[in-house]
Amino acid sequence: MDLRIGHGFDSHAFKPGVPLIIGGLAIEHPEGLAGHSDGDVLLHAITDALLGAVAAGDIGTFFPPSDARWKDAESSIFLNLALEEIHHAGYRIMNVDATLILAAPKISPIAGEMRERLAILLDILPNVVSIKAKTPEGMSMDHVAQAHAVVLLQRIEDPAELMSMTAVVESQRQLEDVVKDLISEVHKGPGTRTVVPVFDTDDIT
Ligand code: MG
Repeated sequence: MDLRIGHGFDSHAFKPGVPLIIGGLAIEHPEGLAGHSDGDVLLHAITDALLGAVAAGDIGTFFPPSDARWKDAESSIFLNLALEEIHHAGYRIMNVDATLILAAPKISPIAGEMRERLAILLDILPNVVSIKAKTPEGMSMDHVAQAHAVVLLQRIEDPAELMSMTAVVESQRQLEDVVKDLISEVHKGPGTRTVVPVFDTDDIT
């Protein structure tokens, strides 16, 4: 069985007056996460884990914080690009395991809803999405949210399945245009899909 594993990490500081969005879920809270995009620390970690699993760089490779197009962008855009990258490499997600580290709000009451939301975004079943949460005991990081994510991928053996998975992404016309533009930038031309060994660790902060 051809398997790949990927790990992702991200952190964002809390900031008053902005919406809190974690795992694609809008959460009632006095503060949100500061970021060039919507600051979704969990989606950023999962995006990096997916890209890492197929050695396709990281979130900063495709979405540099210097690019004004990603100001206040929904992080599902980043996630969709990573999904397209793993499908192009010929893999599907087997499971995702994530850990959030933050003092507040409590995640356990909404973890189920967050798993459901992530399952929709990742086009997988909720029973292969795990979200755990810890408080940052002894770390003096009560105003920071951190996320770790691990993904396991399995090679897709059936070409028909691969085509149908690619079609899901390609049916999103607006996203397709954006993704093609980004891929051509990163891969130096739409015809060449060789992954370049670029690991720009800049992140959207
Ligand atoms: Mg980030």
